[in-house]
Amino acid sequence: MGARYVTGLIEALERYAERPAIGAGADVLRFSEVLDAVYRLAGALDDAGVGRGSGLACVTGRNRPEVLLVRLAAHVLGARLTQVVTGPAVHGLDFILRDCRPDLVVHDVPVPPARAPRLGLDELLAAAAGRDGAPMPVRAGEDDIARVTYTGGTTGRPKGVASTFRAMAARDSGRGTGWTGAAYLSVTTLAQRSGGRSLEQLLAGGRVEILDPFEPREFAAACRRLGRVSTYLTASMVYRLLDDPVTAAGIPGLEGVSYGDAPVIPERLGEAVTRWGVRWRQGYGTNESAVISRLTPADHDAGVAGRPELLASVGRPVAGVEVQVRDARGTVLPAGRTGEVWVRSKTVMAGYWNQPGLTAEVLREGWLRTGDLGHVGDGGYLYLDDRVKDVVMVNGDNIYCLPVEALLARHPAVAQAVVVGRTSMVTGEEVCAFLVPAHGCAPSGTVAAEACALVERELAPAHRPTAVFWEREIPLTARGKPDKRRLRRIAAQASAQ
Ligand code: AMP
Repeated sequence: MGARYVTGLIEALERYAERPAIGAGADVLRFSEVLDAVYRLAGALDDAGVGRGSGLACVTGRNRPEVLLVRLAAHVLGARLTQVVTGPAVHGLDFILRDCRPDLVVHDVPVPPARAPRLGLDELLAAAAGRDGAPMPVRAGEDDIARVTYTGGTTGRPKGVASTFRAMAARDSGRGTGWTGAAYLSVTTLAQRSGGRSLEQLLAGGRVEILDPFEPREFAAACRRLGRVSTYLTASMVYRLLDDPVTAAGIPGLEGVSYGDAPVIPERLGEAVTRWGVRWRQGYGTNESAVISRLTPADHDAGVAGRPELLASVGRPVAGVEVQVRDARGTVLPAGRTGEVWVRSKTVMAGYWNQPGLTAEVLREGWLRTGDLGHVGDGGYLYLDDRVKDVVMVNGDNIYCLPVEALLARHPAVAQAVVVGRTSMVTGEEVCAFLVPAHGCAPSGTVAAEACALVERELAPAHRPTAVFWEREIPLTARGKPDKRRLRRIAAQASAQ
């Protein structure tokens, strides 16, 4: 009992008592106030019947400090926590609330009917305020399931990734080598990576500031106000900051940017690295595995100083994570060959919640299949080529999307490119490109033809997109990744007309 992941956090809340801990605009909680709130909430949840091994779902309409407080309280109790922060596009909430088998659903937005009892977040907070904040022993055990986090909503039914407290602790020590800065500015969902990163910040005695929704100018104002800020951005947020005249040239107060979750356009990354003068760190990982590899600040510096290929890489494996690239039969491939990325690490999930069949497909003899295709290049750097499910098959050839997207976006009049496949009577499937014009440029057939010609020249004729769609922006999932499912539908509908 007394899982290390949780006791470490409680000790940090005790140790840094008077420091500012969690802020959201004008309201700031100190570490001692966070600890007090956590014990009160844990007491109120206990009263509501939540204990070690219970399922607790927490659904909020936005990112707010209480998302972290409820998480900490659930961890003290050793409950199995599922958190959802609903954006306009959260997919399958109905399914998630049934699948995670909650004993209690806490919410601040209307939620679909579930069999479990429900409690409004305000009611829970009122009940917590009426209790004392007496310390409570940490009931979580190392091998208890800490979280069931839902992923994969864009490729099919969401899957619940179940992680133990032990795996959470291993995740933390793996990341703890990084620089945390004085304040961590959270602008992505606290239900996923940013929640863990926020707790890591508290563990180091640093402050967390929550900004929701993300807007470039509000982001810049928060950086100026807080100073020495580190943050986690999606690639699309980096582009928005680069495109806003107020933030394009630099963001005073911002010192470190981590990013990941989706491929980044190397040229645009290079622009940001050169202009902003901050520490850049890329993480490649999945919910199932946590961080697999990192592109370090030194790699970014080298990337803009004569080794541009590094900016197209997801870096090298982090300590404690083994990476192999294997073919479809599971045979390990040599460097340079593209295959599926397999990883082995203490941070890997226990399995998919309620899905033994699906779990057996991805967990093999201690290894996790990521579903990503990649290859190892010079110096042991890992490069991703595509996701297994997104590969486009043209005349029997596997066309990997990422290299095609990177080449299309190299055209100066193209800001962003996303490639999907659609059925073709002639070639089985064909490559369709969605292009966003660069700032100040208009969609143009000539540009499209030039960009496609570049793909054909650098790769091979089969890679050349045979259909091009111009968009004002690429539709994103709730997690801020390009919504390929939607793009596939648009491409298929266009061919049916
Ligand atoms: P999720 O489990 O929802 O976080 O999604 C994980 C997937 O996001 C991975 O399998 C990759 O396809 C993609 N991904 C994560 N990090 C990166 C990165 N740094 N670069 C490119 N793709 C990434």
